[in-house]
Amino acid sequence: MATGTDYRAAVVGGGPAGLAAALALARSGIETVLVAPAPKPDHADSRTAALFAGSIHFLMNLGVWTRIEASSAPIVAIRILDDTGRLFRAPETRFEARDAGRENFGYNVPNRGLVDALWQEAQDAPGLTLRPDRLLARLDTTGAKASLTLDDGSTLLAELVVAADGRKSLCREASAIVTKAWSYDQSAVACTFDHTRPHQGISTELHRRSGPLTTVPLPGRASSLVWVERPAEAQRLMSLDESAFRTLLEARLQGLLGSVGSIGRRTMFPLSGMSATRFGDHRVALVGEAGHVIPPIGAQGLNLGLRDAATIAECAGDAGVHADVGGPAVLERYSAARMLDVTSRVWTVDVLNRSLLSGLLPVQLARGAGLYALQMLDPLRRRLVREGLEPTGAIPRLMRPPANFATASAG
Ligand SMILES: Cc1cc2nc3c(=O)[nH]c(=O)nc-3n(C[C@H](O)[C@H](O)[C@H](O)COP(=O)(O)OP(=O)(O)OC[C@H]3O[C@@H](n4cnc5c(N)ncnc54)[C@H](O)[C@@H]3O)c2cc1C
Repeated sequence: MATGTDYRAAVVGGGPAGLAAALALARSGIETVLVAPAPKPDHADSRTAALFAGSIHFLMNLGVWTRIEASSAPIVAIRILDDTGRLFRAPETRFEARDAGRENFGYNVPNRGLVDALWQEAQDAPGLTLRPDRLLARLDTTGAKASLTLDDGSTLLAELVVAADGRKSLCREASAIVTKAWSYDQSAVACTFDHTRPHQGISTELHRRSGPLTTVPLPGRASSLVWVERPAEAQRLMSLDESAFRTLLEARLQGLLGSVGSIGRRTMFPLSGMSATRFGDHRVALVGEAGHVIPPIGAQGLNLGLRDAATIAECAGDAGVHADVGGPAVLERYSAARMLDVTSRVWTVDVLNRSLLSGLLPVQLARGAGLYALQMLDPLRRRLVREGLEPTGAIPRLMRPPANFATASAG
């Protein structure tokens, strides 16, 4: 690739949000370059992501769903069990996909398989150029176009820079977009595990005093685990040998999934939160964790990231062939489109998490009463299911069911 090459859009970052954004932009007729290191053959990510219907439709529309469907499992129900042992315990609350008129809420998808599938699709996508060998070293947004300097000293020009370079985003820094960030006194241990009882497509959240312990179905008798604890306890869980970890997990699950079998590689994630005060400025659009970081509670993070990706592609595509796709009109439309969806979910997850940690009686009462109301009131529960599944505001076109979509498959 020659230096100084001129593109309409440059996407920086090859995580799931960046890869999806690059494919979506190219598909929307925007000549795009992707600056992202190729996934290493042995790259390990112990996380899975519960992706809701809109995200699955997006993957179908990008042509990658068939590559990962077999390694993903449908989620037909979500149950919340109060394991706080407190005086005011909430009743079991159960959300069924059929309450929202769907066959399932979506699918639990392994991160690694998702990145590999998107990367494969990107290899020969028309209108998409890859720079798999390089990282972005510097971004200058002061000129008529953004100038990207790569780590070999070569430069690229682009009207629009899609910052999908993760939570420590260099592109976000260059755009001078202000963020609010905070941390929680909690860490999550994530892994996959086998078990003897079938999960029946049900994801279970055990609400505990130190944070939730969540299991999400995988194909067969296997599930993924996100176990949130105080940092010292999470560190201890990481240091246990497999047999001791298995014994503890089995005790925590109280027989819900029968005996626990083999356990995959464990990874620890300190919990933090971050939200940008706007999502586009100075030729930069923030996508995925470059724009928002949410604790792994309620499966919102990547669903938001994919909605960012579909939305920036729609805003840029709609601007027309002669428009400046990194100009204020496109970026203001994008930022406005993402604001309510992102901020409402960052806030909801924060409140839910803090209500578990709080030892205050009124907070426990409010939480218990809220879950009780949800269990008893069908319309309220149905509404919450819909809100949790779908973005607040218009659904980007790329997240609507594809024309040849059989309604049964993704709900
Ligand atoms: C335990 C756990 C469970 C979760 N479960 C769910 C779930 O069930 N559902 C859900 O929706 N979300 C879930 N999430 C959130 C989800 O995992 C994240 O939102 C998602 O992985 C973030 O993807 P991303 O593409 O935004 O960022 P990343 O995956 O961090 O990608 C950023 C990329 O940018 C690259 N990069 C950085 N700097 C540069 C540079 N200078 N030049 C080029 N490239 C660069 C990096 O190499 C990286 O590949 C979970 C998170 C955790 C921790």
